[in-house]
Amino acid sequence: MAGSERDGTRATRSYDAVIVGGSLAGCAAATLLGRAGARVAVVEKSPDPAAFKRICSHFIQASAVPTLERLDLLEPMLDAGALRPRFNARVPWGWIAPPPERAARGVNLRRAKLDPLVRGLAASTPGVEVLLGQTVSALRRDAGAVTGVVAHDRDGVEAAFEAPLTIGADGRDSRIAELSGVEVKTYPHGRFAYGGYFEGAVPERAPDATVWMMDPDWAAAFPTDDGLVFYAVMPTHDRLPEFKPDPAAAVVDYFERLPEAPSLRAGRLAGPMLGKLDMTNRMRTPTAPGLALVGDAALATDPLFGVGCGWAFQSAEWLADSVAPALRGEEALDAGLRRYRRLHSRRLRGHARMIHDYSTGRKLQPPERLLFSGAARDPRVAAIFDAFGTRQIGPARMMATGVPLALLANARHALGRGRGPAARVGADLGKAA
Ligand SMILES: Cc1cc2nc3c(=O)[nH]c(=O)nc-3n(C[C@H](O)[C@H](O)[C@H](O)COP(=O)(O)OP(=O)(O)OC[C@H]3O[C@@H](n4cnc5c(N)ncnc54)[C@H](O)[C@@H]3O)c2cc1C
Repeated sequence: MAGSERDGTRATRSYDAVIVGGSLAGCAAATLLGRAGARVAVVEKSPDPAAFKRICSHFIQASAVPTLERLDLLEPMLDAGALRPRFNARVPWGWIAPPPERAARGVNLRRAKLDPLVRGLAASTPGVEVLLGQTVSALRRDAGAVTGVVAHDRDGVEAAFEAPLTIGADGRDSRIAELSGVEVKTYPHGRFAYGGYFEGAVPERAPDATVWMMDPDWAAAFPTDDGLVFYAVMPTHDRLPEFKPDPAAAVVDYFERLPEAPSLRAGRLAGPMLGKLDMTNRMRTPTAPGLALVGDAALATDPLFGVGCGWAFQSAEWLADSVAPALRGEEALDAGLRRYRRLHSRRLRGHARMIHDYSTGRKLQPPERLLFSGAARDPRVAAIFDAFGTRQIGPARMMATGVPLALLANARHALGRGRGPAARVGADLGKAA
């Protein structure tokens, strides 16, 4: 039950759960916990209900679509102009394009529209209060467990929020994680990102998304609402001097040199060219007594694979389902937190390991070259690659089903064409085996 009392000079409000961060993960968790009957406070530092994350290409993977449907968000997103794109990859061996009927569809809606929608959904859920303009700066603790947070508004007025469960949904630089002292592992990131919205430069495969995995550089086109396309590049750090003086011109030039890419000169940059230079991967232990982390606060991986938004929604769902029995008084909270930690690890750890390994900026290794080339040559491998890339199957299943088929595809290609690039891939296979 929510309540209020005086604690020294400041008011203390009581809830079943207090969530720090009113973006995708925080508002999804609040909505599902509110629907499960909990009294929830979402404490968000931005005072603006229309605030949104600026640098994000917002391609939500198909793995998260069931969560969006459960939240009743998919329809409002489509009404707001969201697209349902598949994704195609241009690799050095050609195109990876699964048969359309087997390719999963994600969702793409600009964060300028998505974030206010998600926040509005939480705010309209009975039992949920969204408190804007409150920055959390401290945790409350009792006997080793987190029991809430202390926040201050823009005038410095403090407020305390207490709850048996505190949820850190405050993004990749999570202050809640830092204050709680949970273990954090970091993995280096060897690329930088620039991206911007273009009008009038439509990629050939629109409305589907296209990524160019040019080993080791990466670029992408994400068609989104209102006829805009978010074009992004992620080259390795050594190329930063080419981009820094005039990032917009450098991105346009970059696309001119990509194989089978649209010319951005045909369009117009609609808004600023956005950049992010540090994207160190962070993986944190997602629970502690009285505390859970969701979204980027728990796992902030390389944006190159476009997984963060989907996993923000999905981790919020896993947490809400895991702790709902405890918040109804049916079991101890620790049991729910253990369930969430196991689920988070089972669903994401394998993916995260592969993402972190590639994010150094290194070139593709033989097993990856095998899979990528096989997927470009055989639609069955492409379909497996697609199921993995859209995060519907994990790495173990992808390797078990994809590698034998990729070997066959490459062997057939090598036999049919003699000693061309395929034969070189065949040599790679030998090294990988
Ligand atoms: C260049 C780039 C491109 C990307 N492209 C994609 C993509 O195509 N697809 C994809 O799925 N993901 C992408 N991502 C990742 C995605 O943006 C994040 O994974 C996602 O926003 C995580 O959502 P979240 O709710 O966990 O955190 P955030 O969206 O970061 O929200 C955190 C919230 O916490 C609030 N907050 C922070 N500190 C406090 C505090 N002390 N007190 C109160 N409130 C606080 C913030 O104001 C914010 O509202 C990209 C990221 C980058 C950098």
